[in-house]
Amino acid sequence: MPEMPESQMGEAGSPEPHLSETSKMPDQIGNVGRRTTEELVADICASQGKTQLSLGPLEKVYVFWLAGMSCDGCTVSVSGATEPALEDLLTGSIPGVPLVVLHHTVLTLESGDHFTTSLEKAVAGKLDAPYVVAYEGSIADERLTAGCEPFSSSGSLPLWAGSEVRQRISTAEWVKRLAPGAAAVIAVGTCATWGGIPAAYGNVTGSMSVMDFLGKDYRSTTGLSVINIPGCAPVGDNFTDAVQAILLFLQGLGPLPEFDELGRPKWQFAETVHQRCVRAGYYEEGTFAKNYGDKECLVEIGCWGPVVQCNITEKGAVGHMGGCMNAGGPCIGCTMPGFPDKFSPFYKSPPGSTVSSNASRLLGSIIRPLRRISQRERNREIRWHDTVPSGWASEQGDVSLTHKILEFFYEKMQFMGSQRPGPHSAKEHFPAGYRSLPERLYGEDYQVLPEEREKKAEKRAE
Ligand code: SF4
Ligand code: SF4
Repeated sequence: MPEMPESQMGEAGSPEPHLSETSKMPDQIGNVGRRTTEELVADICASQGKTQLSLGPLEKVYVFWLAGMSCDGCTVSVSGATEPALEDLLTGSIPGVPLVVLHHTVLTLESGDHFTTSLEKAVAGKLDAPYVVAYEGSIADERLTAGCEPFSSSGSLPLWAGSEVRQRISTAEWVKRLAPGAAAVIAVGTCATWGGIPAAYGNVTGSMSVMDFLGKDYRSTTGLSVINIPGCAPVGDNFTDAVQAILLFLQGLGPLPEFDELGRPKWQFAETVHQRCVRAGYYEEGTFAKNYGDKECLVEIGCWGPVVQCNITEKGAVGHMGGCMNAGGPCIGCTMPGFPDKFSPFYKSPPGSTVSSNASRLLGSIIRPLRRISQRERNREIRWHDTVPSGWASEQGDVSLTHKILEFFYEKMQFMGSQRPGPHSAKEHFPAGYRSLPERLYGEDYQVLPEEREKKAEKRAE
């Protein structure tokens, strides 16, 4: 882990009086009600008639969300999560999962030193519950800062001191102080997991991932290495879902979730985008989009889906809606290590795709016509194989003789080695030709109104 300059270190573990004198603290900017986030959550739970029922040793867990070289996109994603929703975690609504007390620069009520106090308490080991660190954005090498003003910071120390003696504390420094006592450290988004855009070619800030910063020997108090939820921005559900799984584990109610070699939750990142893509059928039949907006597979206009591990095609961007190829965008590999450099230039056919897409094209040219024959045949009831009792025009027009021959053999092949239920053909089913039930009952008058039919029948009787 890179050493921080002493001038940015602040006062590790401020003297205790600073942490316990919140009643004497000055007013907070913006937080006119002087409410704490925990009090607000308690009010919300009380208004819903909820009492916190813990099913394990933990009633609550603090989550310290820190932001480094980030665009805040991860915060936007996570605050829009739906399965589970962030609100479910914050109000302790998920059975067995302890209440999450989120400490976040945007979402927490407290401001100024009231905000920083919680971080100091965690560092000093004075919190009344375990904590998890969630880090958004990459970690800059703060030794490179001019004038020792951090690239990214949260709060300044010492608490309650005048501005002339204070030092802004970089979020890298907070990670360094908080990680040893954390129950888990979660890197959220590709910048935090692999370095992402701030660490791309020309990286003037020395940006790196949380793993790079803490090193491979890092373990949390519960023995976990850094957990990585990549994506630029990540699927919000992937974060809340992983937090839920980890908290159930900490609560003793669930197994240790499975992570892969890169610390990604296995159940979220084991498969490629391509395996769940809504356009995978087009790839398999060898039909490819030429322009943006086309409905076919996007591989020839820059999709890396066949080799990229991401579950957005299954989860959608928010609440199973949207998400890359669902919305017409090719995959540019934003969840992967090396993004963006290893996936640039974007929107160009990826290397290797020419071989696989041409193989699909060749196979598809044989498979597609056969499937259309079978598809037409499956669109017929046995009793009206040749004449459909529908007034709607056929999109396929008249069926050729070759088509009929192939269809005949297809039909035979399908039931090779097994007994077909019922008659084999319309002819066998209706040797005298198919007639609907009204036709059989009323003969040629079956389409006439009942009164008219009666009149006609009377006339015939006379
Ligand atoms: S659009 Fe991309 S992910 Fe979808 S089928 Fe084509 S190559 Fe695979
Ligand atoms: S499909 Fe590709 S571009 Fe889209 S979120 Fe997943 S990895 Fe990123």
